[in-house]
This record gives sequence, C-alpha cells and structure tokens, in this order.
Amino acid sequence: MSAQTRSGNKRLVGLIGQPVKHSISPAIHNAAFNHMNVDYFYIAFDVKEKELGHAIRGLKALGAAGFNVTIPYKQRVVRFLDKLADDAKIIKTVNTVVIEKDRMVGYNTDVSGVMNALMPYKDAISGHEALILGAGGGASAAALALARLGCNRITFVSRTPSRARRLANFLKRRIKISAKGMGLSINELPAIAKACSVIINATPVGMWPNIEHSLLRKEQIPSGSIVMDMVYNPPETMLLKEAKLAGATCVSGLDMLVFQAAESFKLWTSLEPPIEVMKSVAIKTTGRFV
Ligand code: NAP
Repeated sequence: MSAQTRSGNKRLVGLIGQPVKHSISPAIHNAAFNHMNVDYFYIAFDVKEKELGHAIRGLKALGAAGFNVTIPYKQRVVRFLDKLADDAKIIKTVNTVVIEKDRMVGYNTDVSGVMNALMPYKDAISGHEALILGAGGGASAAALALARLGCNRITFVSRTPSRARRLANFLKRRIKISAKGMGLSINELPAIAKACSVIINATPVGMWPNIEHSLLRKEQIPSGSIVMDMVYNPPETMLLKEAKLAGATCVSGLDMLVFQAAESFKLWTSLEPPIEVMKSVAIKTTGRFV
C-alpha cells in the first residue's frame, strides 16, 4: 500500500525520533521534493521508545519510501532492519532507512555529511590529530569521516568516560585507527586540544536555547585549526565564536546537516539533490528558532 493525498499518489518519507518538534528536516526535504517536482512528502514522527518497532513496521506497511532516524534511536533502530549498508555497518549507527520491496536497509549519511563539510580542509586533516567532544552516534560518524580524510589519531572526550573509551576501542577494531577515550572533566583537555588540528563537537552543548555554552574557550583552541560544531541551531555556536576569536577555521553543523540530508534524498529518489535549495531553506528555517 502507498500513501496517498488529495493531490494524487505521493510517497511518504519520515523522521523517527524524540523529540522531533524542532527538526528542520521536513522543511529541507519538502522544499527539495517540490523543487525537483517529485511526488514525495516528509513528516516528522515523535515516537516513544516502546513504540519504536510498531512505528517502523507501520511505515513499511504504509508503503513509505524510507525514513530518517534521529536521537535517541540511531543505534536502537538497527535490530529492526534487514540489512546495513556501507558506513552504517561499520559503526552500527543508522540515520537513514530505505524501504525496498520486502526489506529495510539502513544507511549512515552523517558520515558523508561530515566528509563533505570537511572536504575543503582535507590537507589540514590528513596525517594530523583530531579531538572529538562526545562519544555517541554523531561522534562515531565523525570519526569514520575523519579516518577517510586521512586523520592519524582521534581522542574522544566524553562526559561519561567509559563511553568514550568504549567507542575508541570499538573504532580501533573496526577501522584500524589510533584512538583514545577519556572523561571531560580532566585537566588534560587544554593540552589535548592544543595538539589537534581538527576539533569536532559531537555533543548538544551550545544548542538553542543554551547558546552561551561551549566546552572549549578560545585559549584552548589552536589558531589555524579546523573547528566543526555538529550543533546547527544556532548556525554559529558559542564554540564557533570562540574558535573564530582563536584564529581557527569554523565549519557549521548546518553544512553537515544539508550534506547528510542531500545524501538521504539521493537514496530515496535516485535523483541528484538540489543542494543550494536545501541549504537556503536550512538557513531560513534555522533562523526561526534562534
Ligand atoms: P548522542 O548519541 O546522544 O551522543 C551525545 C553525546 O554528547 C554523548 O557523548 C553525551 O555524553 C554527550 N553530552 C550530552 N549532553 C552533554 C552535556 N550537557 N555536556 C557534555 N556532554 C554531553 O547524540 P548524537 O547523535 O551523537 O548527536 C550529538 C549532537 O550532534 C546533537 O546535538 C545532534 O543534534 C548533533 N548532530 C548534528 C547533525 C548534523 O547534521 N548537523 C547530525 C548528527 C548529530 P553522555 O554519554 O555522558 O550522555
């Protein structure tokens, strides 16, 4: 069965997470579908944990083309899928599902989102060290992207030290990269940050409405480093403001957001995504929440 509207046959795609009410993915994807004149529409679904399996099976039964997955289900969704592709298989984290005839395939477009956002700085990353703040799904996607860009060694620093150590050990086995995990409240953080040519925030710290928060101050950020914040709302977070003052190159989470959305669009429609349209909608829509 396929989803229908009064305007004819439309294919449903969605977002599963909790909470999803501030997500700008519906605006980005629906603008892209309209621009390309394809019969798809995108809805965000706030799903309770105990309903996750029902929601996923329900989307399949309704004939959806696929869905995105966000916090807190990027890892929990895996057990409901028939197959993991490429990057999702390596990091066991899924943010995009394609529903084929009788099977659901999980992908991770956050990895290519980070890679595309950082590609202009590949030479500064290759052969150098990186610091990733956080140890969740975003951190593992960032690590895989950095490894692909030739990064030498990654230190994960997390509020929960055991989670950072677990992720570092997991990635050492899966992608053969040199990695280390440690707690956030350590005195060594400034020294670690100073030795890194790339710093990525993969925690929600600095996200609206707590926009005054940053895990690093300008004194701890090396000038000439690349600093990316996965937080996209606001597009210029306090971390990026501090990085700018330190003389670093700043990469907004909005770039990653648009690139990962573009990759999901391509997986669902097999069409080239209208990236400029998606980016301009992302900028306009984010502005509404700031
Ligand atoms: P996640 O799997 O829940 O992991 C979050 C990480 O942040 C964990 O290590 C967590 O530590 C840490 N953390 C949470 N609150 C913190 C705080 N107040 N202080 C210090 N550390 C804190 O989430 P995720 O999927 O990795 O996402 C992380 C962030 O990236 C979110 O803001 C998300 O919106 C953003 N993101 C953006 C994009 C994009 O396209 N721009 C894509 C993916 C994710 P504990 O283990 O101690 O809880």
